Amino acid sequence: MNYDAFFAEKLAQLCAEGRYRVFANLERSAGSFPKAILRHEGPAGEFVAREVTIWCSNDYLGMGQHPSVLAAMHESIDRVGAGAGGTRNISGTCVYHVELEQELAALHAKDAALLFTSGYVANETTLSTLGKHLPDCVIFSDALNHASMIQGIINSGAEKRVFRHNDAAHLRELLAQVEPGRAKLVAFESVYSMDGDISPIKEICDVAAEFGAMTYLDEVHAVGMYGPTGAGVAEQAGLAHRIDVIEGTLGKAFGLVGGYIAASKHLVDFIRSYAPGFIFTTAMCPVVAAGALASVRHLRNSNVERDGQQRMAAETKRRLLAAGIPVMDSNTHIVPVMVGDPVQTKRITDELLERHNIYVQPINYPTVPRGTERLRLTPSPLHTTEDLDHLVASLTEIWGRLQLRKAA
Ligand code: PMP
Repeated sequence: MNYDAFFAEKLAQLCAEGRYRVFANLERSAGSFPKAILRHEGPAGEFVAREVTIWCSNDYLGMGQHPSVLAAMHESIDRVGAGAGGTRNISGTCVYHVELEQELAALHAKDAALLFTSGYVANETTLSTLGKHLPDCVIFSDALNHASMIQGIINSGAEKRVFRHNDAAHLRELLAQVEPGRAKLVAFESVYSMDGDISPIKEICDVAAEFGAMTYLDEVHAVGMYGPTGAGVAEQAGLAHRIDVIEGTLGKAFGLVGGYIAASKHLVDFIRSYAPGFIFTTAMCPVVAAGALASVRHLRNSNVERDGQQRMAAETKRRLLAAGIPVMDSNTHIVPVMVGDPVQTKRITDELLERHNIYVQPINYPTVPRGTERLRLTPSPLHTTEDLDHLVASLTEIWGRLQLRKAA
């Protein structure tokens, strides 16, 4: 077999569908988020560097550049150096990991928490370990769950039943079909990142309780963002105590990288002791844990950033809709602008970048279903009114010139 020709053919397929991903070489400069320097090759092969405004960052609150986070990271690197030095079990655990786990457990009002190198790993290894070891387990998964949850469920080898998105009645139907003696786990998210909608946590918990199922909630897009102390939507709704496992990331609102679960003492100790994705990998760099600790502590005590973000998100939706740009009705901080075609979506984002110095990544299949391609805007508290004026004017100009579908 000609392996290289095979790879080239697969890549050509992606290009033909307008789905080939190109990295943008974006240099964020500390203290100036959401502005960044974009480096690229010009038309004659020359080197170009220019300032752009980022409208699609998952550093939702700009905490990746917050002075308290940067100071904590400087201090920790001077104190303990760069790397962790090993897996958590073999010389890799340090004071920052321990303190961060205690802080995250307190944030979610759970007995314990456990760190992973990413939210992806947290989901994949926790779900695969639970599904593998719980006796004769069935996992019930929301139809729009993130790839990391889906992969964990597949890798567990457990039976999987998919319930219609946010449909507690369908979940109930599926639960009722399973023999009462089997272990059951319901896996879902609080804020769905592509549509920006919120799950009916209470209804899902009620149904799960009725059938004795465990609940597993991915709050990746909600931690730091919702609730009086930034613990997420479950906290905001007063329902955290009804969730068995809360999973979160340190990579979005907290501004760094890493994932975690918060749960009962025994569940966390079980995952710590059985999950390959925790046991067999080098611990997170202490400097990252130190920065995350500062970020979590800051957002537990300050609503300034999340309130500012909510205001900017609401204003962005209002202004875009007023200009006839089709914004999906979302009640969260995420602003999906619907296009419905991968080639057009790419064209819009190319034009935003080339002609207006606005950086937005196109969102295509398989991240969203075909025909629902979109721009996913994430306004931050650090975007200014001038940034928003410029975004609205630029999109209005592109929408008019390309004669794109307007909001109803
Ligand atoms: N869960 C959801 C819902 C996500 O959207 C993502 C990442 N986009 C993850 C988990 C993975 O988190 P991380 O980026 O920390 O790996």
